[in-house]
Amino acid sequence: MTKNAIVWIREDFRIEHNPALSFASQNHKRVSALYIYNNKNFDKKREAQKWWLSKSLEAFEIDLKKYNISLEIIESDEIEILSKIKKNDDITVYWSKIYEPDIIAKGKKIRDIFIKNQINYKYFKGNILNEFQDITKNDGTPFKVFTPFWKNAELKYLNQVPSKVFQIKKLDKSFSFFKKTIEAKEILPNKNWFKKFEKYWKPSEIEAKLKLDELIKDKIHNYGEARDIPGVNGTSKLSPYLKFGQIHVESIWNKCDSLAKKTKGYRKYINELGWREFSYSLINYFPEMLQGNLRKEFDNFQWVKNDKFLKKWKQGMTGYPIVDAGMRELYETGWMHNRVRMIVASFLVKHLRIHWMEGEKYFKNCLVDYNEASNVAQWQWVAGCGADAAPYFRIFNPTLQGIKFDPEGTYTRKWVPELKNMPNEFLHKPWELEKKIQEKIKIMIGKDYPEPIVVHEQARASALEAFKLLRKN
Ligand SMILES: Cc1cc2nc3c(=O)[nH]c(=O)nc-3n(C[C@H](O)[C@H](O)[C@H](O)COP(=O)(O)OP(=O)(O)OC[C@H]3O[C@@H](n4cnc5c(N)ncnc54)[C@H](O)[C@@H]3O)c2cc1C
Repeated sequence: MTKNAIVWIREDFRIEHNPALSFASQNHKRVSALYIYNNKNFDKKREAQKWWLSKSLEAFEIDLKKYNISLEIIESDEIEILSKIKKNDDITVYWSKIYEPDIIAKGKKIRDIFIKNQINYKYFKGNILNEFQDITKNDGTPFKVFTPFWKNAELKYLNQVPSKVFQIKKLDKSFSFFKKTIEAKEILPNKNWFKKFEKYWKPSEIEAKLKLDELIKDKIHNYGEARDIPGVNGTSKLSPYLKFGQIHVESIWNKCDSLAKKTKGYRKYINELGWREFSYSLINYFPEMLQGNLRKEFDNFQWVKNDKFLKKWKQGMTGYPIVDAGMRELYETGWMHNRVRMIVASFLVKHLRIHWMEGEKYFKNCLVDYNEASNVAQWQWVAGCGADAAPYFRIFNPTLQGIKFDPEGTYTRKWVPELKNMPNEFLHKPWELEKKIQEKIKIMIGKDYPEPIVVHEQARASALEAFKLLRKN
């Protein structure tokens, strides 16, 4: 065993249930945690996550210090920096897996370098319930439909020996290996846009635990109904913490599993964790979906290039209040409610017929919980070109969605404050309100709030026409 260890931290900013960190602290005298910031993965692509990352590093550094483990942040390419470790440095390198094809490919290269340089290394299961390779149909092929996937995956997980509780050990002395380190705050985006996020989020492990406690205490039993109502704080908001590994999905599972009453809400919640697992499975078995449609017939779909409408969608100025509320929530908080994600995504790909990849790219830049697997899989699910997808011909009517899921307008009025005084009856179709009354309540549609950029019935008919052409091809 080498004297020193480096734990290469990627998406595992936690002390609890962190096998790589625990194993290193139990087996080596001195441990350093390394974070390699490769700006190629973030710049102009994942600006919101730069903020989350920077704050996570700050919080994690404080937590690690209690165990005499230093956090070293290096700005570099991963291969470049890791290939500098030499045999006589007396170091073993540890890390946890990430289930994204590009990262897996890079990991293979790094392992080859370590083997060549005779560096000891060991890696552990990542933030997932089942390794994706373990869940296949009986004939060894991957699932493309969620329900049988999850039935199989849940059973497999339940039948596993419960995973060990990993304890991290306090070390006598801290240790640093790298020279040119940077400060976490150097990662912050240049634009001050992220400042607003501070009102909504605290990126740390302790906060993740509080969110989980809140879920178990107040939310889980009503989750089945509340999860669809964006005006209610009915979901766990654990997604960014899961992404950055401030909590392990097994910790969530265990806490849910310990509930005395296994209600419908509990089942539904566990099911959502299943969608996350399914997405990881999909992008690994079908990595081509990261570059285009999973269902190849959609390659002939007549998408429309319309920068003006794309901009209006991004700005939350489409004239459909529930769509605009969602897009503004995203820009303001770095997160959007799942029901509204579905509505805005559907509006982009079906009403505007703009390619789902434009939406995917924008979400990637703005979401603090951006996750390659879930984002790509969900965009394709909405567009109809993914696995087990919503059929293309099922087109959400944004007015009816608004009326159904935000009947009192709690959510819409919050994010579209110019409609604050709009009567409920017209909130989701303000253009139908008589001009005289618009004047009276001082909300002129077309001036204070936009006219709809497309007419629902026409947009729906064009989308169906385009879909018909696709089927003829
Ligand atoms: C177009 C579109 C894009 C999306 N992009 C992302 C993304 O980049 N990252 C991301 O984490 N989720 C994404 N989702 C899924 C979902 O919207 C979020 O996971 C959820 O809103 C996060 O909030 P929460 O933690 O309160 O969820 P909860 O309702 O509390 O659910 C618990 C956890 O289950 C997982 N989960 C829930 N719903 C889904 C789902 N449909 N697919 C996969 N996992 C799910 C998440 O990890 C979530 O944290 C997307 C959905 C759509 C429709």
